[in-house]
Amino acid sequence: MAPRFSLAIGLGANLPSPAGEPFATLLALRPLLAEALAEQWGAWGLERPRLRWSPLVCSQAVGGPPGQPDYLNAVLLVEGEGAPQPARAEQLLQRLQGLERQFGRERRERWGPRSLDLDLLWWGELQCHGERLVLPHPLWSQRPFVLAPLAALRSDPIQPDWPQPLPGCPGWPD
Ligand code: ATP
Ligand code: MG
Ligand code: MG
Repeated sequence: MAPRFSLAIGLGANLPSPAGEPFATLLALRPLLAEALAEQWGAWGLERPRLRWSPLVCSQAVGGPPGQPDYLNAVLLVEGEGAPQPARAEQLLQRLQGLERQFGRERRERWGPRSLDLDLLWWGELQCHGERLVLPHPLWSQRPFVLAPLAALRSDPIQPDWPQPLPGCPGWPD
């Protein structure tokens, strides 16, 4: 069987988009993002990847200008064939940025409020240090709005290099 690689995408919104409030934005985005990923994997000649959507979480803005509306966030895990490669990661980023634009994303100040933010968090062990793309995302493991959705998906190993439970471990004795 072909090896499978885990890619994570962080989703966030705290301003209305053409689809409506952040909740409506993320609902409208979901099928479009699923289609974009299926198309991209198809363009690489690979099977449609498996998608695991975290629950949505709501939290106060961290960093950026004061007084921002609360954020709605989620994480999408994409598990598929095809080795992670910098050129492929760039193509994915372009698709994500196309969707951000479709939902009215404007960039003003750093960490300012936005109608949609789609970040690549990691893709297998791939490391990128370019101007347009840094992988793994340098802040993902420090952000509660990423960690909480991931924790809700934790039934399977998520990051290959995360500590794993001991095989067959019965847990702590009482
Ligand atoms: P943060 O990345 O800290 O969450 P942000 O999402 O608000 O901040 P953006 O304004 O969305 O930042 O993106 C700024 C630039 O970051 C983009 O032009 C993009 O090319 C670059 N970038 C670098 N690495 C990544 C990545 N892993 N995912 C998404 N964008 C990235
Ligand atoms: Mg971001
Ligand atoms: Mg971003």
